[in-house]
Amino acid sequence: MLFHSCCDVRPEVAAFESYEPGLSIAEIAERYGLSRVIKMASNENPLGVSPCVRQIIADKACEAFRYPQSGNPRLVKTLAAHCGVDASRICIGNGSDEIIDLLFRIRCVPGVHNAVAFRPCFGIYPTQARMAGVELRQTPLRPDFSFDFEALLSLVDENTTLAFVTSPDNPSGRIADVEELEKLARALPPACLLIVDEAYTEFAGPEHSLLGRLDSLPNVALIRTFSKVYGLAGLRIGYGILPPALADYMWRVRLPFSLNILAEEAALAALDDAEFRDQTVSLVRRGRALLSEELAAMGCEVLPSMSNFVMFRPAPEAITAKALHGELLRRGIIIRALGGYHLPDWLRVSVGTDEENQLFLQYTREILGA
Ligand code: PMP
Repeated sequence: MLFHSCCDVRPEVAAFESYEPGLSIAEIAERYGLSRVIKMASNENPLGVSPCVRQIIADKACEAFRYPQSGNPRLVKTLAAHCGVDASRICIGNGSDEIIDLLFRIRCVPGVHNAVAFRPCFGIYPTQARMAGVELRQTPLRPDFSFDFEALLSLVDENTTLAFVTSPDNPSGRIADVEELEKLARALPPACLLIVDEAYTEFAGPEHSLLGRLDSLPNVALIRTFSKVYGLAGLRIGYGILPPALADYMWRVRLPFSLNILAEEAALAALDDAEFRDQTVSLVRRGRALLSEELAAMGCEVLPSMSNFVMFRPAPEAITAKALHGELLRRGIIIRALGGYHLPDWLRVSVGTDEENQLFLQYTREILGA
């Protein structure tokens, strides 16, 4: 392909649209003249940052002039112990987004290999596939948003090198059955890596993860994050639990300092803070049960969630999702409209603190006249 100008770019890049960020608290406060705005849109931790982690970040600020230790050996060792896996399986990234991006780039030859996923899926899979020049084949989730693994398998051919399943899923909150996941892993051709994206796994519980079965499943990788249960979305820390040979390649090609020095210290402190993690999990489980029950009582259709958010749609005769979203915004509550997932009738609310959940429910009831 001949380029004519110094600003010509790869066709994949030329076709890219800018990332549309969610609405910010400051934006909504200004637009509606509000003094308090609550964000329940990005599945962040309702408790914020753990006090121990805050302290460590402050204490270690004086180290910020140093480069991090390449390979992050302290965090690798601690994570391996935490997960009960060999350290050779762990690779850490600048958010799990980086791990996903690297998987496309290390496992897919552009224009040759393909990847498969469900539709809708987490938006980073299609964007990073496109950026890597890789075809992403998608099959719809069932109408109730459960996983049709047979349909996913039917997309796989000899050039499929990655298969993505998100469990619990985003945006539905649905969990995949571990036995079915294991069956899927065994049914995939040996060249295809099954990636189970476990960004929200802590809210479901360890019995829903393939973690304990990895030694008998050579073609399975798990990806996890510090953005949710550890309350560190802004520091960008994610990790993969991978077949050791792949983890090794990942470390070789990853930018050497993609995990910054304060993020590494924060992650170590967060792993040590079981109390904050437990508090977060129990708050989220209590909150999602309350939100699910109350929204259903208002006549909304609610999907069963094992995550830290709830997906629902208001009864069509009551109000449109768009109108409910807008009315909540005017009252200072930001939830997620799912137009970007091609689900314009649905909304997703992240579990907040008890007070935030009550306020969201009170306003929703008011708006619906329920
Ligand atoms: N996977 C899923 C399913 C997610 O929803 C998210 C975050 N929204 C991520 C991965 C990315 O997490 P991180 O902040 O670690 O990049």
